[in-house]
Amino acid sequence: MSPAFDRVALIGIGLIGSSLAHAMRKKKLAAEITGYARSEATRAKALELGLVDKVFPSAREAVAGAGLVILCSPVGTYAELAREIGPALQPGAILTDVGSVKGAVVRDVAEHVPPGVHFIPGHPIAGTEQSGPESGFAELFINRWCILTPLPGADPEAVERLAAFWRACGSNVETMTPEHHDLVLAITSHLPHLIAYNIVSTAADLEEVTSSEVIKYSAGGFRDFTRIAASDPTMWRDVFLNNREAVLEMLGRFSEDLSALQRAIRWGDGETLFNIFSRSRQIRRGIIAAGQDTAAPDFGRGVPKTQ
Ligand code: NAP
Repeated sequence: MSPAFDRVALIGIGLIGSSLAHAMRKKKLAAEITGYARSEATRAKALELGLVDKVFPSAREAVAGAGLVILCSPVGTYAELAREIGPALQPGAILTDVGSVKGAVVRDVAEHVPPGVHFIPGHPIAGTEQSGPESGFAELFINRWCILTPLPGADPEAVERLAAFWRACGSNVETMTPEHHDLVLAITSHLPHLIAYNIVSTAADLEEVTSSEVIKYSAGGFRDFTRIAASDPTMWRDVFLNNREAVLEMLGRFSEDLSALQRAIRWGDGETLFNIFSRSRQIRRGIIAAGQDTAAPDFGRGVPKTQ
């Protein structure tokens, strides 16, 4: 089955939208790419960088005649966008998205999808802390998982065509229910971001340790949290507002485990600390063995040239 489309519409042209554009260009997955972005600055940049062939100030115009439409804006925008583009979607088209939550996307989008259009939610588990149309690159999806959450009764051919598209972008594809996706991502992505935002904010509020000391001595571990905490605030606000149940469930478990660590420290229980830390180390080794990170020290970052 060909993974290529005559026309693909990108609704939102930030990190993920622009990375998809680069990947489609490189792998010849779209004869034509149309785009919609909210701001004139992003629309102009997308044309200048050759990410899209045509760009429109309205999402409805951008989806006309597209065989594949990909929502690539923050998930809080999907309900409004789906209402707008629904009537303009071409029969037989595939409507998908890249949003970091799936249950809420199904809730917000499905009702606006006309009969004959294949709505297949998706989520590439790939990203960086950068945003905007200049931040994308074709290789972002290579060797990363893309999760599709087709609804009951979805057309298997359309699902396979979308899976083939993602595989052509370099991803491995897995399907699961939206509910399961939201639980898995709550622990693997959403909670780590919440913890990172929280530790950076705690450090920023300290009085006994100055902010210049926090920055100066950040290589002790803090720095790695700041990378995650530099992620786009709008996107992450929308993730937490739209995956509330699963995040609260995981946060409850996390808080219990944190209390156990707190107790072990208070009681001088070195054995408990050692055992928990040893198990964590094994998980890191598993991630490297699965090709989801490299074993290069310091997460592959080099020594600054000025040192
Ligand atoms: P991004 O770089 O911040 O780009 C967001 C795009 O959406 C921009 O084109 C922006 O337009 C547009 N947009 C923002 N607010 C909007 C609004 N209210 N109405 C219409 N358009 C709006 O974001 P991203 O990182 O590509 O994330 C896009 C989606 O991918 C999100 O749903 C996110 O959950 C998902 N995702 C992100 C990552 C990641 O690591 N970043 C990974 C996987 C999935 P302007 O530029 O004109 O403002």
